[in-house]
Amino acid sequence: MGVLGLRIDVCTFEGLKKGVLPIVEALRRRRLRATFFPTIGPDRSGRAVLRIFRKKGFLSKMVRTRAVSLYGWRTLLYGTLLPAPRIGQRLGDVLRRTAGEGHEVGVHAWDHVRWQDSIDHLPESVLHDDYAQAVEAFEKVVGRPPESTAAPAWITSEAALLEAERFGFRYASDTRGTGPFRPILRGKSSKVPQVPITLPTLDEVLGRDGATAETFSSQVFNSLRPDGANVLCVHAESEGRAYLGVFESFLERCLSLGWEIVPLEELLSRQKGELLGLPVVRGDVPGRAGQVSIQGAALDRQNPGQP
Ligand SMILES: [Zn+2]
Repeated sequence: MGVLGLRIDVCTFEGLKKGVLPIVEALRRRRLRATFFPTIGPDRSGRAVLRIFRKKGFLSKMVRTRAVSLYGWRTLLYGTLLPAPRIGQRLGDVLRRTAGEGHEVGVHAWDHVRWQDSIDHLPESVLHDDYAQAVEAFEKVVGRPPESTAAPAWITSEAALLEAERFGFRYASDTRGTGPFRPILRGKSSKVPQVPITLPTLDEVLGRDGATAETFSSQVFNSLRPDGANVLCVHAESEGRAYLGVFESFLERCLSLGWEIVPLEELLSRQKGELLGLPVVRGDVPGRAGQVSIQGAALDRQNPGQP
């Protein structure tokens, strides 16, 4: 069979506190390693609730994915009615334990909500500070700098990609697409390759056309390409909690049929030959409110980033 890169995003305080270790345990039982991308700075998820009033489709998605039961009310008020907890600082032991079990751990921004809501309006100095604060806090907690980064909500920009180059990341996973590539920035291929996710996420599919976590799991499984650089992104907030059982069944199904599950760094290191230089563009992904950053060559496909 083929190879599947497994990425776990941790977007909230609650996700790191309650959703990461169950996934670490599920992976440990199967002797698997994966890549974790935790948000490091303040959890201001409450600000995201304000998006209900601003972005079309956000409220229906909140209802469809049962966001309140997944995240809890506290998370939905952090940064508004409740103070925003500093995620890496408060939960450093979870990060150290995850890294200590041999998993790859990178950064998923300093301030997830600010990045997701305002990246196109942030000055370069703020983008720089976001990376700098995330890297510094990560190093303080884990004892070494992060080697990889993943932009919140698959939204990046030329300015952000150029900033990332200054931090010496070995790769970034900011985009949706079909396989590793080098973004073309100001006419040149970037030093920091992209490892895009190639499969849909649970929150994009759940509830649409009656889809359940089980049908999503089958959909993903059936979309795996034996010859492809498959990358799946799960969330500590969902697959580490309410959907842990479905996630574990998915792992079992893959392993029983001979699929190899690896961290993204390993998936990248197995790529043969030079990576193609391709533009990063914005496009729609079904089930996601707002546009995301997509590997240019995938644009011609009907559903970029989708099977
Ligand atoms: Zn996230």
